[in-house]
Amino acid sequence: MPIDFTLSPEHEKTRSSVREFVDTVIRPAEDRIAAEKPGRDAYLKIIFGLRGQARKAGIWLPHMPEEWGGMGLGHVELAMVQAEAAKTRLGPWVFNCQAPDEGNMHTLLHWATDEQKEKYLRPLCEGRVMSCFAMTEPEVAGSDPTLIQTRAYQDGDEWVVNGHKWFISNAHRSNFAILVARTEDDPDLPQAANSAFLVDIPSEGWEEVREVETMHGSTGHSEIRITDLRVPASAMLGGRGQGHLLGQYRLGPARLAHCMRWIAQAETALDMMVDRSLNRFAHGSLLAEKQGIQWMIADSTMELYQAKLMVLHAAYRIDSGLDFKSEVSMAKHFVANALGRIIDRSIQVHGALGYSTDTPLASMYQHARWARFADGADEVHQMGIAQRTIAAWKDNGTTRTATGDLPV
Ligand SMILES: Cc1cc2nc3c(=O)[nH]c(=O)nc-3n(C[C@H](O)[C@H](O)[C@H](O)COP(=O)(O)OP(=O)(O)OC[C@H]3O[C@@H](n4cnc5c(N)ncnc54)[C@H](O)[C@@H]3O)c2cc1C
Repeated sequence: MPIDFTLSPEHEKTRSSVREFVDTVIRPAEDRIAAEKPGRDAYLKIIFGLRGQARKAGIWLPHMPEEWGGMGLGHVELAMVQAEAAKTRLGPWVFNCQAPDEGNMHTLLHWATDEQKEKYLRPLCEGRVMSCFAMTEPEVAGSDPTLIQTRAYQDGDEWVVNGHKWFISNAHRSNFAILVARTEDDPDLPQAANSAFLVDIPSEGWEEVREVETMHGSTGHSEIRITDLRVPASAMLGGRGQGHLLGQYRLGPARLAHCMRWIAQAETALDMMVDRSLNRFAHGSLLAEKQGIQWMIADSTMELYQAKLMVLHAAYRIDSGLDFKSEVSMAKHFVANALGRIIDRSIQVHGALGYSTDTPLASMYQHARWARFADGADEVHQMGIAQRTIAAWKDNGTTRTATGDLPV
């Protein structure tokens, strides 16, 4: 059985060109933005300019098939592009592979009708619009979508929706939402109660109450009140009662894409940790020469290595058409937590500087915290992982299939 972690020459070339674009085009633009602090219009002009350059360079929609203007990469190759792109804050935006649009594109590609694809997926791929995914509600546990209270009932050839959502990322800037609401009173399975709808924004009945203030500011996670919102029957995405299935389908690749971007952030933190330790002198030697610091470097190195292997293996399983639920779940949990630990150690090695906003570490740390909630909170992943491990033991008398089903 061949185990080959090298990229083909063609994909190696793609990786180099993404890295070069990030270093020579996006980083200088970010520095300019930080120095000049442009207003919203000027800022958008810069972003659209960068996007134009990226498209010209052929680095656009790495996660989408070529017929939709994408790079047609598999998930293994996508991992390298996302991990290069996310070395900078704007990278995923510039290449149009940022959350939640990227997950929504996968969803629309798989679930939308041809008409829905032309109306929503096409402009999303062309970078003309943005989107959000609206599922979580303040009143009930987001970890259990069977509790969703937002209701939709049919009125002639329309659906009427009432409810309340929050933490809807990107809603403030979105032109449409994928909205999950309860449509079935008495489903065969509790998971078959919800359906998904495509909602134009703005629409009468869709009201943005506020952008929720979070640890990292009020940067686009909105609370939405939905009152007698009317959508045509043709706005249903997937079939009746398929909202849960659609959410699960969406979250597989979307979760792994998060991990790919988190790897970039963890690598940046480790690079900074080592660089600082080689340039800071205390008690007769460089920090890099202290065993206590070396332990932090070693732990971070091992965790980042594990993170990369888990992501590559989960990506391989998706590309190979194998069941990937557990591998993506384990990767999501592990990478989210490793990210927090690695940034934390890097802050520690930087001393007071790490706590300041003079380096990106403080902001990275604040952003890393949400990784343990978004797209499934830690404990919910652990619950699923444990259930599958117990089932593997019961079915096969061994837990081997639950640990990646690897030939060791
Ligand atoms: C920055 C950010 C962006 C987000 N973006 C979006 C978005 O775009 N769209 C969207 O719909 N949602 C979004 N969310 C919401 C996110 O999906 C939810 O936070 C998540 O599903 C958890 O739901 P909850 O916050 O209601 O926590 P709860 O479900 O109330 O859970 C609270 C705690 O209990 C734990 N828990 C739950 N069940 C169990 C169990 N069985 N055993 C042990 N512990 C358990 C959880 O792990 C968690 O730690 C976002 C969240 C954040 C922080």
